[in-house]
Amino acid sequence: VETPASEDAAVLSGGPKADPNKALITLEGLTKVFETEEVETHALSNIHLNIRQGEWVAIVGPSGSGKSTLLAVLGLLDTTTRGTYLLDGKSVLDLSATDRALVRNRHIGFIFQSFNLIGDLTVFENVELPLTYRGMPAAERKQRVERALEKVGMAHRARHMPGQLSGGQQQRVAVARAVAGDPLILLADEPTGNLDSKNGEAVMQLLSELHKAGATICMVTHDPAHARTATRTVSLFDGRIVQDEQRR
Ligand code: ADP
Ligand code: MG
Repeated sequence: VETPASEDAAVLSGGPKADPNKALITLEGLTKVFETEEVETHALSNIHLNIRQGEWVAIVGPSGSGKSTLLAVLGLLDTTTRGTYLLDGKSVLDLSATDRALVRNRHIGFIFQSFNLIGDLTVFENVELPLTYRGMPAAERKQRVERALEKVGMAHRARHMPGQLSGGQQQRVAVARAVAGDPLILLADEPTGNLDSKNGEAVMQLLSELHKAGATICMVTHDPAHARTATRTVSLFDGRIVQDEQRR
């Protein structure tokens, strides 16, 4: 699978182009414990997982099995209790909060179940914001935002506010926001969970196209048919990987 090497990928890897046989993500002995007043919850226990460039991984498992926690850790939205996480060969768990945010903003695209667009920014501004945070010049931002909105079929809605869009359209904008910066990996936590089946299929179709174009995707889903669309299914139970099925 071929993806253009971005200058941002080079920031992390120090290399010109990722090797498709090399693990893009390596988790070793990853454990996440939530401590509340009286209970300790092992949301993730000793997770070992490699994700290679170009893979499309579906994370499945019952409610409470740790799927969202795993995705939040992969997306550097949450810290861990123990273990290592290498992203493109670089350890990212021992970074300062500032550097972690930088790596997250440059290298990770995240799609949420509830879209999470900013209501008082236009579609264009929503997609632009992560690029602004990382200091990209305005002309390049504009080009990237337009390209991303075209990719998801939302260019004609650039000046709309999120509230003027259907859920399906909002999620397509969220996909544009996630991919506009050419992330190393696209993470999606039940991206179709708040959509009717027609809009859900449209978002899945979009993910398929991104995958064909070379994107590496890790997606939490409840839908067995959606899981089968992925190239690999990782099943969680009680915070552990109980099955890892490579399909193609
Ligand atoms: P899933 O996404 O598979 O439904 P989660 O990753 O959300 O599962 O949760 C895994 C476990 O961790 C559950 O037992 C859940 O209650 C617990 N958990 C998740 N987030 C927190 C939190 N912020 N504080 C305490 N416990 C949490
Ligand atoms: Mg969840």
